[in-house]
Amino acid sequence: MRDQVFLTAEEAREAVRIDFMTYGSQKELMASVLPLLAGREVRPYVPEAITRERLVSVLEAVDLSLEDLAALCSLVFNASARVGCDRHEQLGIWVDTGMESFVCTRCGQCCLKLDFHRDCTSKDVQRWQDNGRHDILAWVGEESGPDGQVNYRIWRHPNTPLYTETCPWLRRIPGDRAFVCTIQDMKPEVCLSYPGTAKHARMTGCPGLGRD
Ligand code: SF4
Ligand code: SF4
Repeated sequence: MRDQVFLTAEEAREAVRIDFMTYGSQKELMASVLPLLAGREVRPYVPEAITRERLVSVLEAVDLSLEDLAALCSLVFNASARVGCDRHEQLGIWVDTGMESFVCTRCGQCCLKLDFHRDCTSKDVQRWQDNGRHDILAWVGEESGPDGQVNYRIWRHPNTPLYTETCPWLRRIPGDRAFVCTIQDMKPEVCLSYPGTAKHARMTGCPGLGRD
């Protein structure tokens, strides 16, 4: 697991937007975030009336410095975040993931409960094609986006329009409570990167940090 992740300003904004929209109202977080945004776009505002949708629209409208964006990331991800450069000298934000002590218990909770249908990327599909994994590709659906682009969806019963409720690659180890992924070396990026941060683990019920 990575101890830190590097985000460009655009990626940091998107990560914050996803966090706001994914994890319910997070009233305390919203209250702590407001002072950072206040005075730019949200005046006058009533903290109690701020919704996550409003917060996202404010975030999209305001022009935050990298330092302010790092402070925002620190609040939102409940982690240290600082301005810095990646190995290509690109300026952005380093965020501590809090995942140093993470150990997957193989409980299978993420595979069984999280909605991953929309998270298949063209890179995933390319990797499966490059490796001749037609068995995996048979479970991938395609949908046309509004601009005519192809969006990939997982997992669709082969030769049907029906999507599975749970992942077809998950197996319970016989005589054990643990689960195993039968495409471990080929699993989609969404699975490879889960959980990305300690907050991600906590908010989605992953017990790998031993706190649940
Ligand atoms: S929920 Fe966490 S601990 Fe359980 S299988 Fe998924 S990553 Fe591992
Ligand atoms: S591909 Fe593997 S890791 Fe991903 S949901 Fe299925 S069983 Fe879990």
